[in-house]
Amino acid sequence: MSYRPNITNLKLASSNEKDGLYEFIITMADGTECRSVFHRHPKWKMTAISRLLNIPCPVCRKDFICKCMEKYVGDLEQQIEDHKWIEKAIAQ
Ligand SMILES: [Zn+2]
Repeated sequence: MSYRPNITNLKLASSNEKDGLYEFIITMADGTECRSVFHRHPKWKMTAISRLLNIPCPVCRKDFICKCMEKYVGDLEQQIEDHKWIEKAIAQ
């Protein structure tokens, strides 16, 4: 069984515009929430992701810290780009 993350919301949590650092909370269709850190320069790039412990991990089912979401960074970045989630989150 392979997990496919599906972003349904992305919310700006904090930002340091001077350093081009942004923290977003990502919500997935299954209710999983993740905290992610992005660098803006030279282009938007996710540099860290950690699952918030609101529900058990959809991949390994643990309800404590795991690294499963790190495997999906590329997929998540693609969704964020395709759906312009960052532009929408920052515009708010
Ligand atoms: Zn996991």
